[in-house]
Amino acid sequence: MSVRVRFAPSPTGFLHVGGLRTALYNYLFARHHKGTYVLRIEDTDRTRLVENAVENLIKSLKWAGIDYDEGPGKGGDYAPYIQSERLSIYKEYADILHKKGAAYYAFDTTEEIDEMRKRNPGESFTKYDRTSMKNEYTLGEEESKKMVDSGTSYVLRLKVPDSTTVVFDDLIRGKVEVSTNEIDDQVLMKSDGFPTYHLANVVDDHLMKITHVIRGEEWLPSTPKHVLLYHAFGWEKPLFAHLPLLLNPDKSKLSKRQGSVAVEDFASEGYFSDAIVNFVALLGWNPSSDREIYTIDELIESFDIEKVNKGGAVFDRAKLEWMNFQYLKLMPANELADILTPILEAKGITGFQTEYLEKVINLFRERIKFVKEIPEIAGYMFSSPQDFEQEYLEKHWKGNTVEILEPLLDKYKATGDFSHSALYELTKSYIEGLGKKLKEIIHPIRLMLTGKSAGAGMFETMEVLGKDECIKRIEEFIKIKETGKI
Ligand code: GLU
Repeated sequence: MSVRVRFAPSPTGFLHVGGLRTALYNYLFARHHKGTYVLRIEDTDRTRLVENAVENLIKSLKWAGIDYDEGPGKGGDYAPYIQSERLSIYKEYADILHKKGAAYYAFDTTEEIDEMRKRNPGESFTKYDRTSMKNEYTLGEEESKKMVDSGTSYVLRLKVPDSTTVVFDDLIRGKVEVSTNEIDDQVLMKSDGFPTYHLANVVDDHLMKITHVIRGEEWLPSTPKHVLLYHAFGWEKPLFAHLPLLLNPDKSKLSKRQGSVAVEDFASEGYFSDAIVNFVALLGWNPSSDREIYTIDELIESFDIEKVNKGGAVFDRAKLEWMNFQYLKLMPANELADILTPILEAKGITGFQTEYLEKVINLFRERIKFVKEIPEIAGYMFSSPQDFEQEYLEKHWKGNTVEILEPLLDKYKATGDFSHSALYELTKSYIEGLGKKLKEIIHPIRLMLTGKSAGAGMFETMEVLGKDECIKRIEEFIKIKETGKI
């Protein structure tokens, strides 16, 4: 039997990192087993729809490199993959359940349901009271049919059998048992003609031949209802795996209050998709105990759903930053240049060759966490500095600095080798020849070229800036200094 899994998000906004983890584990599972990965949009709750949410979701999945085999925009044997386009299918299956006596019509108004709940104040859960409310059993079949035919608003509810136990195996949690006394007569079809999540989800998983349902732990309480539905239809149920919750470091449920949770926000903050995917893959599972960095192929190769932990997984933002840094260190300069280019453009910095950007990146990659920091800390790599750190200037610009600099500037002009090692040798032998130390001249040079007291290695910086630019900046600085403007 070939594996078929699905990621079934509801388009209620952005893709949450928890959703990304579910999407990723399904993806790893599908690819590991050479199975099929389906994307299905569960949009039957019309009150929660958000415009463009489907497009955003697909964009975030694409950014993360998670591609699906069947789904919106791609088609497949079981299309359509958007639930709001499958309403007639749900209606057909709702009727089947009704005919089988596994579901019944109920006519209670919202106020009547609220009244019923009030009868049990303090209880977190009130089971729908089939014997006293307004439904097919209390009104009788004939009366109920009349009401349906005359257009009275109604819902279809699952008839949950009394006092038995629903049992199913979860690939992560083992055997799960729930008493049906704890399960409500779930609404399956709403009065607006839309199915609820439960009916649509089960019908689609069956029709789309899904073999494994891999989803977040928050859906675990729904599974007994789904098992009852499979049973009522007489269908074989898929295998279930419920992934552990994502937690804040204080063990509360992961929330926006403690930082970004939307995949698109991590993307715009400058995280690399590979780093996010690597990090998210390890929220609840790790292929080995002594490694943290894995390629996607390695993750696919070793993914084992049964090795996923039951306990909540802490979302450690410091670890994510660290992981991003590991990727930054290893990423080829040309890929980083591709990321840097639009960041610079947004700041109006254009016209630099990729080769130059690559050199700048290599100069700073050990000093940054995100590529976007480059124009912030090293704006002087793209134009002459306009501001000079006052304290640094006062400390290192002496009365005789120009005098010392001028012959050195001539040497820089004359040299044909502007590599950092040649610059080092040349500068060192010159300054030591004057009986002075290298640092006595390095600080003024750094000041003139960058305006800042700290940065990358000075001679490496000079090599990247290039001979003409360095000479121009030094001459400009000396000139302005003479006018007393600095
Ligand atoms: N539509 C549900 C969600 O938004 C899917 C749950 C499931 O995978 O069954 O997460």
